[in-house]
Amino acid sequence: MFDGLLAQFAPHSCSGCGFLGTILCYSCKNNITSEIWANCVLCERPCGQSGMCRKCVGTVPLEQIWAIGQRRGELEKLIDEYKFSSKRETASVIAELLHYRLPVIPSDTVIVGIPASSHAKRVRGFDHMELIVKSFAQIRNLTIANPLVRIFDQELHTMGRKQRIALKNELFALSGRVVPSKILLVDDILTTGTTMSSAANLLRNSGASCIYGAVVARQPFDK
Ligand SMILES: [Zn+2]
Ligand SMILES: [Zn+2]
Repeated sequence: MFDGLLAQFAPHSCSGCGFLGTILCYSCKNNITSEIWANCVLCERPCGQSGMCRKCVGTVPLEQIWAIGQRRGELEKLIDEYKFSSKRETASVIAELLHYRLPVIPSDTVIVGIPASSHAKRVRGFDHMELIVKSFAQIRNLTIANPLVRIFDQELHTMGRKQRIALKNELFALSGRVVPSKILLVDDILTTGTTMSSAANLLRNSGASCIYGAVVARQPFDK
């Protein structure tokens, strides 16, 4: 509580290099945006700018998927500061980076954030994806929907790779709200792709006809 209050009054410093007065300085932002990471977001094979390699296309019901970059360097520090220090203001900076990375998408696309687990919400005091989604929707003038609820509430990162993959379609249920036809699914970190594919499969089977994916960062396999 006290830490939270203190953080509100302390001056910002760049999460990448510590430069005072900003959440992400020009130079660190430039390091993130100038790196062209031309690999498959799902499996990391080189694939140009399409986001999915030929092996992955068709394995997940996504038209396309984008990531700001790999979870390394400045981008990793930015995400970690947001997720683990609960620095809420960082949400708008991440949303701006997403805006920079994503092409123009159809104006009738509705943004759906992957809901945070209740454990994560308890720890941070807020749904970290919800803030990013709100800010991104504002920049792009798109609407938001919440058709998903999380049913499997254990933190995925505490599980092994095999366990995660075995979960496949059992992470989410429908909230009862309308499932939009055209969706941009947004998540923070993509590791095995289990979360993204689980959400996309459920939405596709529930009436969505076109689903795009966006993640803040792809977790490198070597980490
Ligand atoms: Zn910096
Ligand atoms: Zn791939």
